[in-house]
Amino acid sequence: MNSQSEQKHRFGKGPFILPQIIRFADSLAARAITPGDTVIDATMGNGHDTVKLAQWVGPEGLVHAFDIQAQALRKTQERLQEQGLFERCRLHLCGHQMMRDKVNTEVSVVLFNLGYLPGQDKSVTTEVGTTLIAIEEGLALLKESGVLIVVVYPGHEQGRFEQAALDRWISKVDTGLYRSLRYQFENTAAPAPYILAVEKLKTR
Ligand code: SAH
Repeated sequence: MNSQSEQKHRFGKGPFILPQIIRFADSLAARAITPGDTVIDATMGNGHDTVKLAQWVGPEGLVHAFDIQAQALRKTQERLQEQGLFERCRLHLCGHQMMRDKVNTEVSVVLFNLGYLPGQDKSVTTEVGTTLIAIEEGLALLKESGVLIVVVYPGHEQGRFEQAALDRWISKVDTGLYRSLRYQFENTAAPAPYILAVEKLKTR
């Protein structure tokens, strides 16, 4: 290792060997998507994930994105329009627990980025009851080799409830139908966000 860029890679701000949480989630989603697929962004927020998913599904694909805040839809729509991606997205102003009412095809990715929007009203956060319902709906919509990805934020009160419930849920996922994993950094000062991901092996 002698060039400066190699040194930066090793000791600077990344890219790291162990990818940051969002990069790891991105890599799982990108691996699961074939251009033309339909996918779900269950928590649109500011629309960053919606944009990435829209790029990966391509012009023939479709992204269904959900949020309960009108402001999230506005921001996401703007972001998509700036990039010419709006046509391949359907933005739903409703809870992700309704996803089976809105999506009637199989999907290759369901992505949840839980919690509240950084810098916004922290009282508007995903909640354990509806999150669990939505995850079951998402699993039902997944096609074979599709993946459901959940980014969990245990650093706030609702997040701790979600953490407890989701850790129980993932430990009971049917091993005949799914593979699952957890991805989390260990030596952190505060409880770190982490990923739970489930890959569907076969539909019933
Ligand atoms: N914690 C993440 C961002 C999460 S944004 C980060 O730090 O980057 C989570 C989004 O989920 C918010 O925009 C919120 O409005 C939305 N949300 C909350 N409950 C929801 C529900 N039932 N269905 C869909 N979206 C919901």
